[in-house]
Amino acid sequence: MMRQYELVERVQRYKPDVNEALLNKAYVYAMQKHGHQKRASGDPYFSHPLEVAAILTDMHMDEATIAVALLHDTIEDTSATRQEIDELFGPDLGKLVEGLTKLKKLDLVSKKAEQAENLRKLLLAISEDVRVLLVKLADRLHNMRTLNHMREDKRLRIAEETMDIYAPLAGRMGMQGMREELEELAFQYINPEAYRTVTERLAEVSERNKGVIAEIENSLSELFTKYSIKATVTSRQKKPWSVFRKMEAKALSFEQLSDIFGFRVIVDTVEQCYLALGAIHTTWSMVPGRFKDYISTPKQNDYRSIHTTIVGPSRQRIELQIRTREMNKVAEYGVAAHALYKDTGGKVSASHSISKETNAYAWLRRTIEQLAEGDNPEDFLENTKLELFQDQVFCFTPKGMLIALPRKATPIDFAYAVHTDVGDTCVGAKINGRIMPLMTELKNGDEVEIIRSKAQVPPAAWESIVVTGKARSAIRRATKNAIRKQYSGLGVRILERAFERADKTFSKDVLKPVLHRLARKDIEDVLASVGRGELSSTDVMKAVYPDFKDERVTQAPKQREEGWSKIRNAAGMLFQIPGRGSPRKGSRAATGGAVPIRGVRGDLPVRFAPEGAVPGDRIVGIMQPGSGITIYPIQSPSLTAFDDQPERWVDVRWDIDEETKERFPARISVIAINAPGSLAEIAQVIAENDANIHTLSMVRTAPDFTEMLIDLEVWDLKHLNRLLSQLKENSSVSDAKRVNG
Ligand code: MN
Repeated sequence: MMRQYELVERVQRYKPDVNEALLNKAYVYAMQKHGHQKRASGDPYFSHPLEVAAILTDMHMDEATIAVALLHDTIEDTSATRQEIDELFGPDLGKLVEGLTKLKKLDLVSKKAEQAENLRKLLLAISEDVRVLLVKLADRLHNMRTLNHMREDKRLRIAEETMDIYAPLAGRMGMQGMREELEELAFQYINPEAYRTVTERLAEVSERNKGVIAEIENSLSELFTKYSIKATVTSRQKKPWSVFRKMEAKALSFEQLSDIFGFRVIVDTVEQCYLALGAIHTTWSMVPGRFKDYISTPKQNDYRSIHTTIVGPSRQRIELQIRTREMNKVAEYGVAAHALYKDTGGKVSASHSISKETNAYAWLRRTIEQLAEGDNPEDFLENTKLELFQDQVFCFTPKGMLIALPRKATPIDFAYAVHTDVGDTCVGAKINGRIMPLMTELKNGDEVEIIRSKAQVPPAAWESIVVTGKARSAIRRATKNAIRKQYSGLGVRILERAFERADKTFSKDVLKPVLHRLARKDIEDVLASVGRGELSSTDVMKAVYPDFKDERVTQAPKQREEGWSKIRNAAGMLFQIPGRGSPRKGSRAATGGAVPIRGVRGDLPVRFAPEGAVPGDRIVGIMQPGSGITIYPIQSPSLTAFDDQPERWVDVRWDIDEETKERFPARISVIAINAPGSLAEIAQVIAENDANIHTLSMVRTAPDFTEMLIDLEVWDLKHLNRLLSQLKENSSVSDAKRVNG
């Protein structure tokens, strides 16, 4: 195991002014915290964070990153806490260690290959800081190097995850060395047989071509000497995984691969790159279509190099990469290379910075630009916050499926993203195992379980909560369907009653032959129109029975409502009294063909008059064209306005029972004696009596008293009357009474 002083020395070699105290403190703390913990290999656990730190010293990372590497498993696996690390090492470092703790939790989630891209994004979003990601990659590299000690069933999962998630991520960050090693290690476990075969074949080919390779190297070196170009030529054999992938992708046999060997020409300056290229192309002929200049047009991950293929001295194809030393470093270490080295190989051109701005890795571009312009490359890591994907959150279903959503998305958006049916039937949500409100903003890595009910119709109000277009349009559609259904349901009830009054039986089938006469396209349309009050039940009756005469309209007002009589009381108020039985709670039989009213929530097209109506009140309905029925208590003076429109009157009855959990609106007037605290006392009486105040307004204020109108929500008439008498008993109240109209 690496000693404390050895680690410090390793960092000192590339960073002489290293903060030794920080490294020493982190070393001792992590070693003590991990104590006697062992790895699967039997090694002391501490050897793992130490090796991770060592990998990062190879990449010449700063001491904060090295310290975070030493500490990266302490919060998750030992008694260490974020608070303790904050106190000992400062909150900046604590935040980085916590970032790694969060990423570690992610390892437990099942990962499918098709989710890989999103998982990489999630990883980046959670990391928040490029150093967290670099430590995570080094952590994964060490775990892959020691994977043979793992339980066999875990090996494959970890190897696949490495291949799908971590290797491409390293590649995108421009860390080709890291990517290559991760791929080769993963390949051994994912497809051991292919790995063995390809490795053996490569060894054979390499043995066979030893002489040729040396010959090419010599020819190239001689050429550069002739042209006075200072260059280093190295040969490179393709790695098993990249050979295998190429064979698979292009359906080639091993023998068909032309590019198992490549040569790299490393020079000092960009000019020398082009000089070397000129020398090569004037000496040997190039293979058309294989030339790429990634120096003038770098790859998205900032990779720069010239690629060309020539027909070499012995007529064989030779792949060449030409680049500067700095470019080579960037190609190997990617983003990490920028940590301590300023790229002097050439100015970052404007064209290459704008070209791929929409790319997810534009942040890398921006930070590299910053680096090119700034004069303090040491600040690079400090300032490289991972600002990409800040506009997205990534959440999981309980089965581990990843759902990408825009930021500020709610569980409702999540439900609709999973499936429209899930959204339409969503009634609640568990976030990370806890029931949470549906308007909760989701966070990265949240596991969301949607609680569903078949009886649910998405409330229209959700439209203003959700942020995804998919959820919004689905809610709109569902609400529209629900309203239509309720209107047509009301239409059925109205028609049933009208038919019954004419001693006929209503069924939807009778409408079929008369659709054209009613100018409606289908039966549902007829029903909804009747429910909305756009089509009268009389018109429907007349269409079905051309001889039908609406007695209510043709007869004198006194008899127009069979079984009902209209009387005026002493004060001149108009009353409608049902003749056939009284609309008692739940007594369906006694109320004949009256339209049953369940309340505002159960009956969308039903509204209540401003003064309200509560179960126990005798009620009538007035059709409001376009919006269904408005319910009035029969004592309401407002009803006189409809006296000469008998076709708008609808018999209604309460259709509720003891189980109904709905409150109904009622308006009361209270005259309060002006004294400190009287309003509070009135509110308290109302609250104690289990009624809700909906709105309260002062109507009249005088020196001694105040009259107010209170719109309440109560269970029924009994409840309302009890409340009124309690109010009257209160010393702050001089009078309390129901308001009608
Ligand atoms: Mn670890």
